[in-house]
Amino acid sequence: MSEPRWLVDEMLGRLARYLRFLGYDTEYAHGATDDAIVFRAKEEGRRVLTRDRGLAVRLPDSILLTRTDIGGQMEELGAAFPTLRQEVRFERCSLCNGSLTPLSAVPPNADRETLPADVLSGGTAVYACSLCGHLYWEGYHTRSVRTRLTRWHRSEPASL
Ligand SMILES: [Zn+2]
Repeated sequence: MSEPRWLVDEMLGRLARYLRFLGYDTEYAHGATDDAIVFRAKEEGRRVLTRDRGLAVRLPDSILLTRTDIGGQMEELGAAFPTLRQEVRFERCSLCNGSLTPLSAVPPNADRETLPADVLSGGTAVYACSLCGHLYWEGYHTRSVRTRLTRWHRSEPASL
């Protein structure tokens, strides 16, 4: 089964970032009209996640989310799409959806003051976004993302 590529509507920007942390190709339809979203979903073969009932009706393959909080949205998405991955992957830039590439060393033009010592020394793998150049590594931020994902996943209602 091929992995879904998502198109997330304007009201779900935070969800888009988390789906990218999970390694999903996720575009964020910021400022797009419903017509533009429908067109792009079909053109690019993307599955739409939306809080807009009217838009969801136009796209039978879309998933309508009703919760306003990110934890609730992850729960709803997990219920509608049970094979949703739960582990963080270094594959997509959370800022722009560019693909991440592992680097053999920190690039010379990187802002070294923002990087922890174990990244600078080469002790921790570092990845760069192919589009915006943002750097990623395993650290405090990924641990806190992982903790939140686990908490939301566990708070799913128990099945009968
Ligand atoms: Zn990027």
